[in-house]
Amino acid sequence: MQSKLPHVGTTIFTVMSALAAEHGAINLSQGFPDFDCNEELKQLVSASMQQGHNQYAPMPGIMLLREAIATKIARSYGTRVNPDTEITITPGGTYAIFTAIATYIRPGDEVIIFEPAYDSYIPNVLVNGGTPVLIPLTFPDYHIDWELVRSKITPRTRMIMLNTPHNPTGSILSETDMQVLEQLTDTHNLLVLSDEVYEHLVYDGSKHQSILRYPALLSRSFVTFSFGKVFHNTGWKMGYCVAPAHLMKEYRKVHQYLCFSVNTPMQYGLAKFLETPEHYLSLPAFYQEKRDLFLQLMAGSRFTPLPCKGSYFQLMRYDQISDESDMDFSVRITKTAGVACIPVSAFYQDGHDDHVVRFCFAKKQETLVQAAERLRSI
Ligand code: GLN
Repeated sequence: MQSKLPHVGTTIFTVMSALAAEHGAINLSQGFPDFDCNEELKQLVSASMQQGHNQYAPMPGIMLLREAIATKIARSYGTRVNPDTEITITPGGTYAIFTAIATYIRPGDEVIIFEPAYDSYIPNVLVNGGTPVLIPLTFPDYHIDWELVRSKITPRTRMIMLNTPHNPTGSILSETDMQVLEQLTDTHNLLVLSDEVYEHLVYDGSKHQSILRYPALLSRSFVTFSFGKVFHNTGWKMGYCVAPAHLMKEYRKVHQYLCFSVNTPMQYGLAKFLETPEHYLSLPAFYQEKRDLFLQLMAGSRFTPLPCKGSYFQLMRYDQISDESDMDFSVRITKTAGVACIPVSAFYQDGHDDHVVRFCFAKKQETLVQAAERLRSI
């Protein structure tokens, strides 16, 4: 039988995490925290199990959680979304993205994707019969060249995919980007799929430019979020999607036959946890401190940092160290220096290589100290 994804292998995150484990290296590759999630949150989830919340949740998620999310959205972005018809709880952000694509992308539809691109986007489009239209972000600041975008739009363009804060680069979209996007998507009647899983990880006083701040954009968008990324429990696979009722109605038709509903006790736990806004309002400062510590520790190294304005990823150039490919370099430093990272070329279909690697700084202070010590010796 012919493969639907002949060019897809094992994800780079799995490959590099396995290599790190094999060589006992500090794992700054795959994006996940090496510290535990909040104790109170774990207790809230345990309590909801003890209270008997152990059967199927309603298909779109429990109302209590959807209401808590709507309150958080109103507070963070000044927008009222209807928890009944416009929010669906999903098993993670990746699932939320796939489901939006599966809902609307048909064979022949073109989907604009910016590279470097998070690794699931292109296979998600391909498996649904769509055609990814790849547009490079500018290097080294990783901005969108809107003129280039305009030149790639055809009558078959159906959707544009965004990711802010951006994985792997740590760039963020500006208010001007959002205004251009609004005008462009209106002119060409495009859907928007906005991956905002790092929404609270925005630094130096910048505002997260969520689609949720822009009612006209929201009227044509799916916006996806992750609890795992912001509440330090990636293993729980909990997230959600926000979309206007007419789009969400179709999304739920797909969702109900993909997983039907998401685990119940965690939904109750998260709903209670969200009642305290400090739990998410504290996140920018929490992660900015980690970014700053990592940068400070790396100052004496031969790596050159690129700006990180959001996410928990720090890109580094290594051209003062070596002219190896970024894959060879990543494998070598994992094996010999004992620190694993991700080669950014893995986020390009054609393996484009600017000699940049990605480090995840969602780590304990001692992990960052130890990793930087090793990296300074390279
Ligand atoms: N989002 C995480 C990262 O970028 C990885 C998730 C995964 O391994 N699929 O590292």
